[in-house]
Amino acid sequence: MTELLLQVDGLKKYFPINGGLLGKKQGEVKAVDDLSFFVKKGETLGIVGESGCGKSTTGRLLMRLIEASDGSIIFEDKDLRNLSKTELRKTRRDIQMVFQDPYASLNPRHSIEKILEEPLIVHGIGSKEERKKRVQEMLEIVGLSSYHARRYPHQFSGGQRQRIGIAKALMTKPKLIIADEPVSALDVSIQAQVLNLMKDIQNEFQLTYIFIAHDLGVVRHISDRVGVMYLGRLIELSDSEELYTNAMHPYTKALLSAVPIADPDISRERITITGEIPSPSNPPAGCAFHTRCSECMDICKTTRPEYKNINGHFVACHLYND
Ligand code: SF4
Repeated sequence: MTELLLQVDGLKKYFPINGGLLGKKQGEVKAVDDLSFFVKKGETLGIVGESGCGKSTTGRLLMRLIEASDGSIIFEDKDLRNLSKTELRKTRRDIQMVFQDPYASLNPRHSIEKILEEPLIVHGIGSKEERKKRVQEMLEIVGLSSYHARRYPHQFSGGQRQRIGIAKALMTKPKLIIADEPVSALDVSIQAQVLNLMKDIQNEFQLTYIFIAHDLGVVRHISDRVGVMYLGRLIELSDSEELYTNAMHPYTKALLSAVPIADPDISRERITITGEIPSPSNPPAGCAFHTRCSECMDICKTTRPEYKNINGHFVACHLYND
């Protein structure tokens, strides 16, 4: 079996809801609730779900930008949750993040050179000359030019800014990149270019990706495996091709039915999901999707379905009890 880079077990993040006169805890939002998955070296794991399903919180938990309530995050042989601040800082060299809005993550008052060399300075990598050389190399790798180093973020288009965001993430030669909706804010024509760039640099630098998106169409061509989240939980996860041709969970089937097909000879029935996504502070009993599921049975309203491994295809749905 290919070597694992990351193994997540029972990961939870509950945010307290405080209120009343004394600001006492009134409840909690289960943003991430018992998540378990692994990521193999060199692969791309796509994580997909509607907004509020906990996918971005998961990305931040893995980076330890926020602290988990429970569970373990084993990166190589270390549990990231047990690392001291100094150890964590060292490990962050190996795990970098690409954000949805590159403009917000690039300091507008700093030149691109200053922005790109910052991670190297933080981690004490290289002399001034070496850092400058690496900035120039990296700009070329992401399809920009070395003279762009003197410019400022506002002088670039959205697509170019995301290339700079990717270059920044690559500066420390990380092993894992967590990309949180990296193309969602871009025009469709630019999305494909950025996705192709990410694929090229993955091959060149043997990178492993966790690619977070709200749209199954976007992750299809970049992901080796795809996991679908609903209300803080993974409800289905399998090889990408298997998921797109043989989705099992009614929620995944509905999401897939909304993805446009390029071939005009193939038509697919659109499955509409009715109702709003329930609040994670008060999730439905049993299967969290039962309030919106057209195949809901009595058991679904009372008993949470097990997350089962059916020949490497994971699914949490009572339709597959036997
Ligand atoms: Fe629908 Fe029941 Fe499966 Fe949930 S467990 S997805 S409600 S059939």
